Amino acid sequence: MRILLFGPPGVGKGTQADLLSKKYNFIKFSIGDILREEVSLNSNLGNKVESYLNRGVLVPNNIIFELVKLFLGKNKEAHILFDGFPRTLDQAKNLEKSLAQLGLSLDVALEMHLAEDEIIKRLLNRRYCPKCNRIYNYATTPPKINGVCDQCRTKLEKRSDDDANTIRKRLQVYEEKTHPLVDYYKSLSVYNQTDAISSPEEVFDKISKIIDGYINKE
Ligand code: AMP
Repeated sequence: MRILLFGPPGVGKGTQADLLSKKYNFIKFSIGDILREEVSLNSNLGNKVESYLNRGVLVPNNIIFELVKLFLGKNKEAHILFDGFPRTLDQAKNLEKSLAQLGLSLDVALEMHLAEDEIIKRLLNRRYCPKCNRIYNYATTPPKINGVCDQCRTKLEKRSDDDANTIRKRLQVYEEKTHPLVDYYKSLSVYNQTDAISSPEEVFDKISKIIDGYINKE
């Protein structure tokens, strides 16, 4: 099965992607995590993409498509969850084509929806663990010990793009470039949506029901 999660930054895609991957054995493909890891390693790729991440704008497609090709080449037999990819119509069409070349297709495209003031509040309160990537939120899901990861005790960090100006830019990029995916995925009959205002556990239950519905149909 292949599923993708899309929605504005801060809607909770990363948190749900982790929960869903554990429950359904998905291999997660999160371009944001891959790119941040490259930046922290100071790799060639990291140096190329750092300024895009810091400005909250999309990384060029030639870089993204290469990452997708590598990932699909290694994981064509797997159940896959795409987190934050595709983010434009061109990327969605490229994914469709790359999957078709492997005899595969997308099963579910799930949009997570949240009002803008709530998104901004969540992003300003977000922290993450640079070691295990677990995500916390001081407004909704704080760590047990202030500033420290519950899971691996590493010091939590704030993403450099989670500041007010970059957040505004990322939301604008989302509206312009990513939101048109709604109509595209409706036209392919794989579109679903869920409200993301409730707790992570409740959102997880709602998404699980959508996935179970799909699995039962197969
Ligand atoms: P995220 O972790 O999904 O919020 O992504 C953080 C940043 O990574 C974005 O603001 C972009 O700069 C970059 N990025 C993530 N996914 C993509 C994508 N599909 N296409 C281009 N850039 C991306």
